[in-house]
Amino acid sequence: MCGFYEFMRGIKKIALFGPQGSGKGTQAEMLAKKYKLNVLATGDFFRKEIKKGSDLGKLAKKFIEKGKLVPDVITNRVIFDELGQKKYLAGFILDGYPRNLNQLDFLEKNFGLDIIVQLHIDDKMVIKRLGGRRTCPNCGAIYHLENNPPKKDGICDICGADLVVRSDDRPEAIMRRLWIYHEQTEPILNKYAKEKKLIKIDAKPHIEKVYEKIIGQLEKK
Ligand code: ADP
Ligand code: ZN
Repeated sequence: MCGFYEFMRGIKKIALFGPQGSGKGTQAEMLAKKYKLNVLATGDFFRKEIKKGSDLGKLAKKFIEKGKLVPDVITNRVIFDELGQKKYLAGFILDGYPRNLNQLDFLEKNFGLDIIVQLHIDDKMVIKRLGGRRTCPNCGAIYHLENNPPKKDGICDICGADLVVRSDDRPEAIMRRLWIYHEQTEPILNKYAKEKKLIKIDAKPHIEKVYEKIIGQLEKK
């Protein structure tokens, strides 16, 4: 058993796992703030590159739109370049990486991981959460028809643009991403469970509740 300070001294390389819609991104940001670590979210990284119109963005876009993984050679290169930066020296929180065994090998060879947090929700819930998601194509704000609706139907509260369904939030893409998660990403968890580095959390409750549970478990490790 150890508290906050022991935790800070010992564990610094964290990865969050969970299917789309498990609240991974939100939790990553909250943990980053608490432990003063930087988050690297590969999905966000690719979306930024797409917005910039860079070559990398153009390449990644073709895969992302279809709900496919960006090829490992590209993604691993991004991880290598990003995590090599000074701001990640004290550690990092990964959101969305590694996603298959090949990426896992690459990460272990180059950087390693101390703790893996798995946010668990079932497929039905994922489909419900993602199906209701609406995104602002202009400013990036995210809404949910049930949990966090915009004030005016279909309009962004912040900038007034028309909201859209992200192409990878369409039903076919959701199903494909879920399949990839079960087939390719979940096997990674077995490895870490054996090494006793895995924390499994029920991600159904409210954000704050899930966050408290993660913190509690992390500081017990
Ligand atoms: P979600 O968790 O909802 O899939 P992300 O923002 O994590 O959303 O990722 C969006 C897309 O970016 C993925 O569907 C995939 O195409 C691409 N991507 C993100 N991370 C990786 C990764 N580690 N390897 C390959 N592709 C990735
Ligand atoms: Zn907006």
